[in-house]
Amino acid sequence: MTSKIKSVGLVPLGNVPEIDLKVLAEHITGCFKLTTQILPPLEPPDDALDERRLQYDAGIIIEAMEAMQFGNQDKVIGVLNKDLFIPIFTHVFGEARQGGKCGLVSLFRLAKNPDGSTPPSAIIQERAAKVALHELGHLLDLLHCEHKQCLMHFAGGIDEVDKMSLDLCEYCSIFLQDKLH
Ligand SMILES: [Zn+2]
Ligand SMILES: [Zn+2]
Repeated sequence: MTSKIKSVGLVPLGNVPEIDLKVLAEHITGCFKLTTQILPPLEPPDDALDERRLQYDAGIIIEAMEAMQFGNQDKVIGVLNKDLFIPIFTHVFGEARQGGKCGLVSLFRLAKNPDGSTPPSAIIQERAAKVALHELGHLLDLLHCEHKQCLMHFAGGIDEVDKMSLDLCEYCSIFLQDKLH
């Protein structure tokens, strides 16, 4: 079955401002030309909270989401305000498995500049859009790209997120079009 991707769901996990979800939805629709729907909020699973690290395990949340039904959504991005980690990293801005159904973006660390100051909400939303599109790219089978400005470049820090553009490089863009059409 290689049915084409039509719709992406955005699901708030816990308390996420409506405006942030709307901006994310607009970017997904605008950049990837996919229908995007904001779904009713869910709570992240209790066992995802690591009590020692006081962070949420991205893998556990994604596994729980993969086991859920999301109507006719082909791909689902969970959006949360909590600090996320995966065991090999101290923290992650987002997470998705290659070709999976569900990915995550966390606003938590995107809401602070490297110098500790707080950026305007437009900057936080732009960063969140980049991370959400990057993770959606993985769900659509895109791999990391070495072009520093490409949306699929790996970003370990805020500086790198800020350097990356909201666009795919030519190569990744052709690959994506091939996946979608
Ligand atoms: Zn990545
Ligand atoms: Zn690229």
